[in-house]
Amino acid sequence: MKSQKHRAHNIANERIEQLFALVKQEYHSHSKDARRYVEMIRNLATKHNLRITDIKRQVCKECNSLLVPGKTCTVRIHNDRRIITCAHCQKIKRLGLRSKIASNNDQVK
Ligand SMILES: [Zn+2]
Repeated sequence: MKSQKHRAHNIANERIEQLFALVKQEYHSHSKDARRYVEMIRNLATKHNLRITDIKRQVCKECNSLLVPGKTCTVRIHNDRRIITCAHCQKIKRLGLRSKIASNNDQVK
């Protein structure tokens, strides 16, 4: 039983990775599709109780857009925090300076 659960988690993890790769490819040209993929990632993570901390930091909580600085969001520094404003829905996200969003977004472009 335990191993079956484990296998399901692995499949879900793989699927999440594939979907997030698609999101990175398509956020620019098909942003509607990309937002749907993010929604699917969230549903998978909820269903299988998986943590998606890295992905969570790179997408908008409100509208599921991928947050790429200068393209789909603006980033300001205030009181040692990054204030990230989504360009699609204007939702504001606040992150500490040391969390990983910058290094992850280097891969996108
Ligand atoms: Zn948004």
